[in-house]
Parts: sequence; C-alpha cells; structure tokens
Amino acid sequence: MNKEQRGVVILGSTGSIGLSTLSVIGQNRDRFRVIGLSCHQNAALLIEQIEAFSPTVVSIGADKAPELRKMVADKNLSVTILEGMPGHSEVARHPDADMVVAAMVGAAGIEPVMSAIQHQKVIALANKESLVMAGSLLISEADKHGVQILPIDSEHNAIFQSLRDENPEDVDHITLTASGGPFRTLPRSKFEKITLNDALNHPNWEMGKKITIDSATMMNKCLEIIEAKWLFRLKAEQIHVLVHPQSIVHSTVTYKDASTICQMGTPDMRIPIANCLGYPDRIQSGSSFLNLAEIETLTFEKPDIDKFPSIQMAYDVLALGGGSPAALNGANEDLVDRFLNGKIAFTRISEVLGDLVRQLKEMKNGLKKPETAFLFRVTQVSDALAADRWGRDFVEKVLSEQNGVSVTDLH
Ligand code: MG
Repeated sequence: MNKEQRGVVILGSTGSIGLSTLSVIGQNRDRFRVIGLSCHQNAALLIEQIEAFSPTVVSIGADKAPELRKMVADKNLSVTILEGMPGHSEVARHPDADMVVAAMVGAAGIEPVMSAIQHQKVIALANKESLVMAGSLLISEADKHGVQILPIDSEHNAIFQSLRDENPEDVDHITLTASGGPFRTLPRSKFEKITLNDALNHPNWEMGKKITIDSATMMNKCLEIIEAKWLFRLKAEQIHVLVHPQSIVHSTVTYKDASTICQMGTPDMRIPIANCLGYPDRIQSGSSFLNLAEIETLTFEKPDIDKFPSIQMAYDVLALGGGSPAALNGANEDLVDRFLNGKIAFTRISEVLGDLVRQLKEMKNGLKKPETAFLFRVTQVSDALAADRWGRDFVEKVLSEQNGVSVTDLH
C-alpha cells in the first residue's frame, strides 16, 4: 500500500452515505485505499463494490453471508468475508485502516464505532444514532484513545468547519438549520392523511428511507440536537434550531462578539463527506459549486414546535439524561419501521414518542426501580442497548394496548 494513501473502512457501504463516500474516493483514488466494507444485506451491490475497490475484508449480515461467499467464489475474487455484528466490528478495527466511515443506519452502529475508537481509528461519523444512544461514553472513550470524531452529518460538519481554529469558550451558541421537511407548510389538521409516499418525498435531500421519515417528523433534528451536544460539548440551551427551507446554509456558530459564521453549499452529502475524508486538506467532492445568484433568496423561520413536538423532546431527554435519549431513539426506530411497513399512521410516530417522554419524566420523578436504572444512568454500552430495548418494548406495549390501558407495568 502506498504510504501516502489513507486506509479507509466504510461501515454501511451500500447505503446512501456509503455510495457517496465511494463516489468521493473514486475521484481521489491516489489519496485513498479502501481497506474494508460492511453492509447489512445488499450482497449484489457489495460484490460490485468489491470488484471496483478491491477491499481486503468485507462483512455482511449473517443471513446473507453464504450468498456473498458463493458470488465471490464464482467471480474468483480475493477478499476475506466476515459476517454479523462481530464481523462488522472486526472490519472496523482492521490494522491497515486509518479512518472508519460510520454510515450504518440506527442503533446497530454503536458496537462497530466503539470498536474503531478503541483501536484509534479516526471516525468520520454519519451514524448519529450511536452518539444519541451513548454520547458521553463514546466521547470519553475517544478522548481516552486520542481519537478524533469528524462529523459527516451536514449540519454538524458545517459547525465543525465554522469552529476551525476558534477558542471553544468563545462560542455563545450554535444554530442547526432544518429544511422543515415535506410537511413544513401543511396544516396540522391534514397530518392524519399523510401517506408513506408523501413522507418519502423530501424537498431537498436524497437520503435513505429512515432519515427521510425522520426529516418528515423532524425527529432528525431532535437526534441532531443530541448529536451536537456531545460532538461539540455544549449545553443543551446553547443549541438552537432554525428552519431554512432552501438547505443552503447548513448551520451557524455565533460567537460572544455577536459574529455568526456559517458554512454554505448545495445540498449534496458528498461535500461534508469530502471534508471529512480529506481533513485537514480540501479535496474534490464532485459536487457543483454554489451559485447564489441563481438561488436569489434564502429564507429562515422559527420551527413550529406545536406541529413538530419532536424538537422539544431532544431537550427533554437530555435533561432526563442517562439512557433516556437511547430509549427515545430505539422507540423512534421501531415506529419508523412500522410506518415504512404500513402498520401505523404517520401521526402515531410523534404521539407514541410523546407518551414515552411523559412516561420517562414520571419515572424519573417517582420511585426509581433498580431494574430500570439504565434509563437515567449509562456507564457502559450494554446500558444504552438496554435503554434502546426498553424504548422498543414501550412502543410494542402502547400499540398493543391502544384502548387506553395503562402502561405502568413497564416501570
Ligand atoms: Mg443532518
């Protein structure tokens, strides 16, 4: 391997962020060597990526591993094939990897990300759920191992760029911008009629299904508030949200002298990905340059918390602390999955999440039982995973007892 080349592992290589990452690497082949790839189940696409980028090792969900092994043998390719969560974690700590792009969807990201941190890989983080679930653990582990976490999430990348070389103590607050999603102007009274296709039709960004639904409920912004708290070590009240329908200003940092610095660009994930892959150098992203004359107008408005209560939930679960964000995140993943499968109405997502936050508040204020201590104190990854499980069980319980039956036995 060329010593000048950065060895890269991509976890979640067949998803939207994984594809964009490989696109940026493809334009900068002299700078990068793909060491490892992992995906959940898309063996057909993974085999194409193996042919195009010749990784040393790959990992796939255990049920798809036999299919992948057969395809690799048929094509006579040379690559080590691992499987399941232990396989993903092993790919993440490969000795030739300098950087791990964490682009898996959801809570499944946490174990491989932790493994990469413990093996001192630079993390380019797109998997916000891992920070939402166990932000304090991941950040303290990164500090312990001297590991840098570079944010791929466009808002957080914008803040990262706007913070360069500044004293963190000079930051007054940050402002996460939000497109407002497809239902920004739809009256709340019409939310009952929202279909899956309506919700999957994001105005600005082409993304995976899970994050597209999160954008429609604005749960994505809720998760991003929590993500920002840990990445930039801020107090919750220092994190503001502003709706900006054009998605050109990707977020801003306001300093104590009242200067506000922002990063702008076309809504194209290859830009923050290129920023992380090349950091601290600038490399080609393949995206088109921003043409403000063509855009003409940038607008901003306050988020409508009544219509999108999920934004307030971020501050609520951060105040509750411990595994509360993980419980909210697990419940959200479960609800989004049900909505994508046509099992629940769009409005049920926010309603059930609201129930969960109320339940957590009651539990925190009432008698605490030791068996649910993880909801308010996370000292290891298993606590965060237990809170995630609790959140999913809460959803199951509420939806199966829809006729107003009490859910107190979850305490
Ligand atoms: Mg984002």
